[in-house]
Amino acid sequence: MTATACSPTSLCSFAGAAQVLPRLRTLAAKAPQSLVIEGGAESDRRTAALAWAATLNCTGAPAARPCCTCAACVQIPQGVFMDLKVFGLEEKITTDEVRDALPEWGQPPRGKGLRVSIFHGAHEFHPAVANLLLKTLEEPRPGNVFVLLAPQRERLLQTLVSRSFVLTLPWPEPQPPEPDVAEWLAALLHFWDTGQGWFERTGTKGAADRSLSLRLLSACQRELTLAVAGNTQASPVAKRLARLGPAGLRRFDLVLASAQEALNQPTVMPALVLDWIATTMIAKR
Ligand SMILES: [Zn+2]
Repeated sequence: MTATACSPTSLCSFAGAAQVLPRLRTLAAKAPQSLVIEGGAESDRRTAALAWAATLNCTGAPAARPCCTCAACVQIPQGVFMDLKVFGLEEKITTDEVRDALPEWGQPPRGKGLRVSIFHGAHEFHPAVANLLLKTLEEPRPGNVFVLLAPQRERLLQTLVSRSFVLTLPWPEPQPPEPDVAEWLAALLHFWDTGQGWFERTGTKGAADRSLSLRLLSACQRELTLAVAGNTQASPVAKRLARLGPAGLRRFDLVLASAQEALNQPTVMPALVLDWIATTMIAKR
């Protein structure tokens, strides 16, 4: 175990814990095979998933689960519990990993609780992984429950969401973009509306470097989150994005993910990636 392992009490410290923990206790009486946890920050979703695993395996009094002191409650935050499987925490989940787990999911858990399989970054599933998991969820898996973590349910495959119970943590407060990024965002929207002013900007030598492009991408991501949640009062950018409609927003999400991947390639020119974002979305608006 590394020195960064969570202390047992951290099971109860995440955004919305005071409301969420009692709900988890109620849900545990008839645990859904698949639970989607959305909202909060990534670390909140992670802790809430561990709290769910602990609630299902805790040997303390039912009304006080997770008790944070029994063996399950101590081992789960450290990731060493026998009936806990965690996917995608450090690297993207592969189909091989999911396939390798199939025999175990066909077996009952080793302890007296439920085997909990947690999937981080479910919104970034490769389609093959999402489909494999969907097939897995379509079969009864006695003694096994699955947890999918994503910023928002809209960013998951709809068929996965429809097979799951969705638990929503409090939404994080969005931070407004920095002034230079805000200017680029405004230019992007102006281009979508008028078809003008964009290429002059990206064509200026050195203007769209990698660092600015990455910051612009994460600002787009943040506005997308606001637009998907319908939280558009505070942001004209999110309001404009909301006009894309659900399919358009999903498309923008995929475009941003591809752009992010492209920007990670050192040989790709950032300005070309930004041009691609601008023109791909204008073609489908
Ligand atoms: Zn316990």
